[in-house]
Amino acid sequence: MSQYPQSPLMGQMMSQPLLISSLIQHADRYYPTTEIVSRRVEGDIHRYTYHDCHQRSKKLANVLKDFGVKMGERVATLAWNGYRHLEAYYAVSGSGAVLHTINPRLHPEQIAYIANHAEDQYLFFDLNFLPVVEAVAPLCKTIKGFVMLCERDRMPASTSIANLLCYEDLLSAASADYSWPLFDENSASSLCYTSGTTGNPKGALYSHRSTLLHSFASALPDALNVSARDVVLPVVPMFHVNAWGLPYSVPLTGAKLVFPGPALDGKSIYELFEQEKVTFSAGVPTVWLGLLTYMGQNKLKFSSFKRTVIGGSACPPAMMKAFRKDYGVEVVHAWGMTEMSPLGTCCTLLSKHEQLSEEEREAILSKQGRAIYGVDMKIVDDAGKELPWDGKTYGNLLVKGPWVIGSYYKQEGGDVLEDGWFPTGDVAVIDIEGYMQITDRSKDVIKSGGEWIGTIDLENIAVSHPAVLQAACIGVMHPKWDERPLLVVVRKPGMEVSREELLQFYDGKIAKWWTPDDVVFTDALPIGATGKILKNKIRDTYRDHQLPTA
Ligand code: AMP
Repeated sequence: MSQYPQSPLMGQMMSQPLLISSLIQHADRYYPTTEIVSRRVEGDIHRYTYHDCHQRSKKLANVLKDFGVKMGERVATLAWNGYRHLEAYYAVSGSGAVLHTINPRLHPEQIAYIANHAEDQYLFFDLNFLPVVEAVAPLCKTIKGFVMLCERDRMPASTSIANLLCYEDLLSAASADYSWPLFDENSASSLCYTSGTTGNPKGALYSHRSTLLHSFASALPDALNVSARDVVLPVVPMFHVNAWGLPYSVPLTGAKLVFPGPALDGKSIYELFEQEKVTFSAGVPTVWLGLLTYMGQNKLKFSSFKRTVIGGSACPPAMMKAFRKDYGVEVVHAWGMTEMSPLGTCCTLLSKHEQLSEEEREAILSKQGRAIYGVDMKIVDDAGKELPWDGKTYGNLLVKGPWVIGSYYKQEGGDVLEDGWFPTGDVAVIDIEGYMQITDRSKDVIKSGGEWIGTIDLENIAVSHPAVLQAACIGVMHPKWDERPLLVVVRKPGMEVSREELLQFYDGKIAKWWTPDDVVFTDALPIGATGKILKNKIRDTYRDHQLPTA
């Protein structure tokens, strides 16, 4: 596999491949009684330990063996964050097969497309997805069996699915006597398709090595900073980019795991945080908005929650401030993508920043942050020339590293690298200390009179207004300037703010010509399958919006 020359003198340490199975073995051996708590789709709370999880993962590995699943074959899941999904994570990858996590929020036709593209052999799914599976089963050409993640008494009396199996029946009949196989660490371990807002989704195929290296690096203090003393609740879904690697990095550290299942509303999340004494969590801004709104309305406080990582889309500084000031929760802004397993940067301070004023520190912490070891990044102009790290010059952001994609599954899209670097599609500035700040997705940037306007800044300012719940900024056609910014706003319930007040709110905060030309109010913004605001849908809605001429 290695394309690099061998030294005449090789190191003499044990040759042990970096395999995903080693994580659950480690957690079982050193933290056997540490709990994994899940809010189940059935509605109740389930508790067991790393030891139990390991035993059941081995049983599932025997089930897969009986199914005849071979190394490298894909086994799909359509499931929320929960203990049975975790068992699939370890059994499928640990046995040498490839875990293909499918996003249940996708349209059934897209689910069938990626299941066929991946040539999935089996599909494990949560019981509430039965109607989806009944709809897609006839379209899935390679799936031999559909396993419903539940007890026998939850199985449907009748179904159109040809080979529907009961997970708990399979596990009760299986032996836990299983030895995890050893194989090349570069073998594929899991597969995740990009959200694919345009064109068909493409697959990012992770390896055991990339996953283990990502787990080590993401647990570090300046990244997720997870330890055996933490209680971790991944809000980020296990069906998208492996919940930012938490199902791997948390067992690596021995922390307690708490899974929220499908209940991601503010009330359910808050109750689980309090019941299980959660100390650390990770999520996208839209989910946290629900939690903060619920807590504000009910005047609640956290008793154990200390730190959260927020990413997936830009975290508005106003949200960071609310977490810090109102609830005493430290926010680490992180950036990454499906193609990066996903972690690339995390924002934490350096010791020299301690003397800065609170405002100056907050300004640094609002950026996407410094590269974690393993990821290298640079910004380039459209000709590929590297641009300076001066905090002002923006360019296309490129990355490389052992957990960054080299090519898409089945070589879809051909050679995607530029001189060995992966073009992220994001536009960013990097400052002299290596702090990166995303100004936009390149396709969302507004091109006004030959200059670029980044929409993230405009949205962050809008949501810092006390009456604004959510905001999205898009470019709308303009006869003179090509495009001008239009701000689309959702007001907080019961709050009023006018177009003029909002436009005035930009005064002194940005260059005058960046100020949006117009504001429209709406009841809700369209949210995609991974919890992000769908700018392309907003652009479609307001394509013909007439901007004021003055
Ligand atoms: P996905 O592959 O679905 O996880 O989406 C990755 C994309 O989400 C990135 O390329 C960015 O455009 C965006 N993204 C992720 N994290 C952030 C962040 N902290 N700030 C701004 N954009 C982000």
